[in-house]
Amino acid sequence: MTLRLHNTLTGTKDAFQPLTPGQVGMYTCGPTVWNFAHVGNLRAFLFYDLVRRHLQASGYHLTHVMNLTDIDDRILDQAKHAGVTIGEYVKPYEAAFFEDMAALRAQQAEHYPRATEHIPEMIEMISTLIEHQYAYVADGDVYFRIASFPSYGALSHLDRSGLKPGVRVATDKYDKESVSDFALWKKAQPQDETLGAAWDAPFGRGRPGWHIECSAMSKRYLGETFDIHAGGIDLMFPHHENEIAQSEAANHKQFARVWLHSEHLTDATGEKMSKSAGGFTTLRDLVDAGHDPVAVRFFLVANAHYRARLRLSTEALHAAAEQVRRLREFADRVRRSAPGDAADDGLLRRIAEVRSAYREALDDDLNLPQGIGLVFELVREANAALDADRVGTDAREALLAFIAEFDAHLDVVRAEEPGLADEVERLISERETARNARDFARSDQIRDELRQKGIALEDSKDGVRWRRVR
Ligand SMILES: [Zn+2]
Repeated sequence: MTLRLHNTLTGTKDAFQPLTPGQVGMYTCGPTVWNFAHVGNLRAFLFYDLVRRHLQASGYHLTHVMNLTDIDDRILDQAKHAGVTIGEYVKPYEAAFFEDMAALRAQQAEHYPRATEHIPEMIEMISTLIEHQYAYVADGDVYFRIASFPSYGALSHLDRSGLKPGVRVATDKYDKESVSDFALWKKAQPQDETLGAAWDAPFGRGRPGWHIECSAMSKRYLGETFDIHAGGIDLMFPHHENEIAQSEAANHKQFARVWLHSEHLTDATGEKMSKSAGGFTTLRDLVDAGHDPVAVRFFLVANAHYRARLRLSTEALHAAAEQVRRLREFADRVRRSAPGDAADDGLLRRIAEVRSAYREALDDDLNLPQGIGLVFELVREANAALDADRVGTDAREALLAFIAEFDAHLDVVRAEEPGLADEVERLISERETARNARDFARSDQIRDELRQKGIALEDSKDGVRWRRVR
């Protein structure tokens, strides 16, 4: 039984084999922190979480990198509107992203690099691309020359004939050689200076395009070739094609070996949820409407296979909440149960059978919905056995082990992060000490650290209080 993952690059389910035995390097495209994440984004982020958790459950040591895009056109527009720098503008949205992730119980990645903190790496890669004719400067902007990269489009199995490489097109905005060439660097405009969005580079002062950040930051943290790259399906073209072109042209090495793409979340009318289309739902909206973030988690991660579309509806969220309730109730019941008098060896065999089928479902391209179906079958059978007092010591132990096993993916059964309260109290007292010593940098750092855990602090005259935020 080995883990098989559907690789967009090959178009098939392939046995997963990392470059270094036992170790996995994974890059996932993170949020653009110009606004709150919508539930469609959160579906992709929880898909990354599922990949993480199953790799860990399979015994791999993981280095997971998720970028924070803290510079792009929308951020510049909004910051200008608000009269602040881009750094000031994105701060609350970045905090909101970490709050959402904590409320949804997503595990933390090992690295969350910010684009604006990796400009030198991007400049270096762009310089290499220019030097080797993969990129060119046009009126202060830098473009990737798609005609120089023959395998462009391999990931999305794109028909290149429509790209007409080498055809010079004049548009009102760009001076590109070919309409499909994409920007690596954009010449600084006067407003970029006041917004804190301009950097010096050998090819002219400006700011990076979006695609180059993922190529530069994945190289910095995972090297030139790494195991898994994941993202939402809407990023496959052109973003992921562009990442591959930039990285493979600059490094002359294969970029990511396995590409995973998660499908869209659609709204009640079946339309893809997106910010640009206007109507989008955030986690805050769902919580305000009375939904528990843990039920939202269950719905997003377990209601459909990641490569199938999923439709958001109030009914589906209520059903998810009910499933979470049943799993928690079952776990409590097993924990409280005493070994029965007339132990049923048939149940023990069934548990072993279901556990093995569950693992097989997850190893089969992360088919959690199928796995959950098996879990509920066993819950029914085990509940009947508990009713009849037929659960012996071994069966009880096996059930507890299985609950821990599926909750390692689902993470909906446990009520509270163990030891969280102690950890929070410790950090609060450390922050008090820092403040008394007028070390405000450390004090702010601790506040941010707690925010990432989904904890907000309130200074009151009676001291510091903390609460969970969503
Ligand atoms: Zn990316």
